[in-house]
Amino acid sequence: MYKYKEVRKDVYVLSLDNHTEVAEAVKAFCVEKSILAGSIIGIGAISEATFRFLDPATKAYVDKTFQEQMEITNLTGNISEKDGAPYLHLHITASRRDYTCIGGHLLTARINGACELLVEAFPDAAVGRYLDAETGLNLYKL
Ligand code: FE
Repeated sequence: MYKYKEVRKDVYVLSLDNHTEVAEAVKAFCVEKSILAGSIIGIGAISEATFRFLDPATKAYVDKTFQEQMEITNLTGNISEKDGAPYLHLHITASRRDYTCIGGHLLTARINGACELLVEAFPDAAVGRYLDAETGLNLYKL
């Protein structure tokens, strides 16, 4: 699902295998390394992705799936802890064949090419989440 190398203490370079799903692979890596707080950045290429948009007026999520080849021009996210497990919050910007970009909160993305990530873990910390009634979001519990 992925290969990795610890390039500095608690900092990992990851290469996700072709055709894997990004969120699933990152979560598996976090479980393997017991990461409950951290940050992620990355680039890559994908052929299918589902983005999520939260409508603040209705607090309803609107999901949309795109089935086309795109470059991940930026994947940015954080790792926290929810119910004792790693919880990912990922956002993505992806460029299309015509060089325009789309983006959003990332639910899933299927790699078609490569995906190269940098994960920085904060091993002595666990940052939790709680469901905030006003926004309908799982916010940081600090
Ligand atoms: Fe989000």
